[in-house]
Amino acid sequence: MSERIEKPVIGFIGLGRMGGPMSRRLIDAGSSLCVFDTSAEALSTLEAAGAAVAQSPDDVGNSADIVFVSLPTPDIVENVVLNGVGRGSRVKIVIDLSTSGPGMAGRVSRGLEPRGIAWIDAPVSGGIAGARNGTLAVMASGPRDAFERTEPLLATFGKVFFVGEKAGLAQVAKLGNNLLAAAAMVVSSEALVMGVKAGIDPKVMLDIINAGSGRNSATQDKFPRSILTRTFDFGFATGLSYKDVRLCVDEAEALGVPMVAGAAVRQMLAVTNARFGPTSDFTSITRVVEEWAGVEVRG
Ligand code: NAD
Repeated sequence: MSERIEKPVIGFIGLGRMGGPMSRRLIDAGSSLCVFDTSAEALSTLEAAGAAVAQSPDDVGNSADIVFVSLPTPDIVENVVLNGVGRGSRVKIVIDLSTSGPGMAGRVSRGLEPRGIAWIDAPVSGGIAGARNGTLAVMASGPRDAFERTEPLLATFGKVFFVGEKAGLAQVAKLGNNLLAAAAMVVSSEALVMGVKAGIDPKVMLDIINAGSGRNSATQDKFPRSILTRTFDFGFATGLSYKDVRLCVDEAEALGVPMVAGAAVRQMLAVTNARFGPTSDFTSITRVVEEWAGVEVRG
């Protein structure tokens, strides 16, 4: 029993673009991991890295003390946690690293409480490079004692911010952040496409913006890495960005906060989703504006 408290078994469900590198960081930091994913390929990569493979989310809840989930949508998180992990005999804390919105966080937290399981929402920002390098922003909300117990694990992912004890507060912070990241992609695409159509070299235009007051996460990172190169491979799916901005605008509406620009960003993601599909990279937003204008932002 004392061994269990000193060195808990960590569960990890959802070993995708973010969960894959984050779970490997936990192994590298010396944690014993028990993992599950619906993708056999994702599982075999983690098994090779030293993790024990579980057969189901219930199995993870029976084997691990603290369970992380990094899953695509709120519905999947809710189902995997309430109808899977949360039925396990061993689990005491569940930590959601996904962007899944405050509504779901509240529902799942209330569902786990009678089972004596603490819920922490800890969404992350910083993309797959941040997940690999341990430089993510990790924002957490939930019971303070459970947070303090798990903070050293969260710190293996990056810089940790405690937002408050109410379930879902960290999700609200994350939705605000992702609205800004998506807005930067949309408006930077409009500015760059305008410059190219007028005859400006996009690299020169980016250098100007990045030395000036218009610089942002799209112009500093996404355009040089994934758009000028025409690779559109930043590592964040259009469908997930669209989900984030929908959750954000819905939450703002529920709180009585009008979001005029946010609604426009949501529509641009709806168009990108319809044109290039939910699995396209969200840097494809630029391709929508390019098609309308009849030019390409090429390095
Ligand atoms: P992803 O699609 O690459 O990975 C999701 C993983 O979950 C996949 O391996 C998939 O097989 C697995 N999965 C799906 N349904 C499952 C189920 N029912 N049971 C078990 N496993 C299941 O997604 P991602 O990019 O890693 O994003 C994960 C979450 O993190 C999302 O909520 C996303 O919004 C958020 N996020 C992503 C980024 C990014 O840059 N990619 C950054 C910050 C936050």
